Amino acid sequence: MSSRTEIASLGEFGLIDHLTRNNETHHASTVLSIGDDAAVLDHFGKQIVVTTDLLIEGVHFDMMYTPLRHLGYKSVVVNLSDVCAMNATPAQVTLSVGISNRFSVEALEEFYEGVYAACEKYNVDLVGGDTSTSDKGFIISVTAIGEVAPDRFVKRDGAKKGDLVCVSGNLGSAYLGLLLMEREKKIFLESPAVQPDLESQKYILQRLLKPEARKDIIDFLEEKEIIPTSMIDVSDGLSSDMLHICRRSCVGCVLYEEKIPVAEEARQFAFKLSLDPTACALSGGEDYELLFTIKQEDYDKIVLNEQISVIGYITDVDEGEHIITRSGNKHAITAQGWNAFK
Ligand code: ADP
Ligand code: MG
Repeated sequence: MSSRTEIASLGEFGLIDHLTRNNETHHASTVLSIGDDAAVLDHFGKQIVVTTDLLIEGVHFDMMYTPLRHLGYKSVVVNLSDVCAMNATPAQVTLSVGISNRFSVEALEEFYEGVYAACEKYNVDLVGGDTSTSDKGFIISVTAIGEVAPDRFVKRDGAKKGDLVCVSGNLGSAYLGLLLMEREKKIFLESPAVQPDLESQKYILQRLLKPEARKDIIDFLEEKEIIPTSMIDVSDGLSSDMLHICRRSCVGCVLYEEKIPVAEEARQFAFKLSLDPTACALSGGEDYELLFTIKQEDYDKIVLNEQISVIGYITDVDEGEHIITRSGNKHAITAQGWNAFK
């Protein structure tokens, strides 16, 4: 009798590992395959990175509170973020959509306005895609291609004991923006006459609906001649993505709660909901900041950049992954990021 294994028993990452466990590559041009933010391909000495993401209505976005223009922008940006996480420069995207006749041409034009706005902002070309009908809601798939100087790409697996752990921008805001939208949606569905007042929460909403890829950080690192020892973009929450770096690099880490950057607007809103802002930074997702490690000797080059926070350091693998709280307690870091199948 053939047995049936539930997807949920493996989880998203377990499932990917399982399905690709026997994956082999046969081309010399395949420099880096599955397992990082993007693959790296080498054509005649020029290296490019390739990454793809799927966005599905009802899973990744809710049409009730996601303006189409923002959705178009975000669909491109989340892929450019993966390109940046490889220390590469985005160059092209392809965009495929599954749509139903619920959408008008005007609505799709609005979506494309956002797509083109992102392409313009990040200087990337839209070079193709595919269009199909979908009776399961709006489906969006973007593939992004970026360029990197030979062997300057940065993987998740290069962190070494003593390296400093850095993160760009701030964390937790997008998750709090999501909680706000979910709360307002619930209120609206119960009493449609009540008009939501979202103006005061502009910042966290913007972080949810219109994220940015940290190309500016990649440019800064290049200007300062820093090649991070490892890097990932924070899409699943700091805990989950820090653990990816540690597991891949066979190292442990110590993070300091007080060093984790959280925007004041996010902190205020977390308190309003009786949530711990640090928990939102650790377990929320979709901030699309860059999490990377650098050699200690590079510290002086980044210390003046207000967009980069040093939040901890890398340890031996035996020491595990920990966070030191403000009160001085030590806790194990656990993966509480999004698990798509739970
Ligand atoms: P990210 O969060 O940076 O987009 P993911 O966690 O989605 O990365 O994916 C991790 C790695 O697994 C990537 O190298 C990705 O290309 C690969 N991957 C994800 N899904 C599949 C799949 N169905 N088949 C093959 N490779 C996959
Ligand atoms: Mg990524």
